[in-house]
Amino acid sequence: MACAFTPLADRQLEVHHLDPLSDRGPRYTKVTDVAVLCRNCHALAHTERPPIPLSRLTALLHAGEQATASRADGD
Ligand SMILES: [Zn+2]
Ligand SMILES: [Zn+2]
Repeated sequence: MACAFTPLADRQLEVHHLDPLSDRGPRYTKVTDVAVLCRNCHALAHTERPPIPLSRLTALLHAGEQATASRADGD
């Protein structure tokens, strides 16, 4: 899932269709067509149309993590 870095069991998980076409009607849904997201990530993905791709969603989430993280590493 996109938020693998927050695998909290108490978070409600939802199924997100990667292919918007799959929402148009009944058809076979393959496991590769969906992603399991927690409610927060799923809501974030749907803040744009079409939904934010998982790759960018993950980047956004990581960016948020880094924004709150202290810069402990000297470079
Ligand atoms: Zn969705
Ligand atoms: Zn999440």
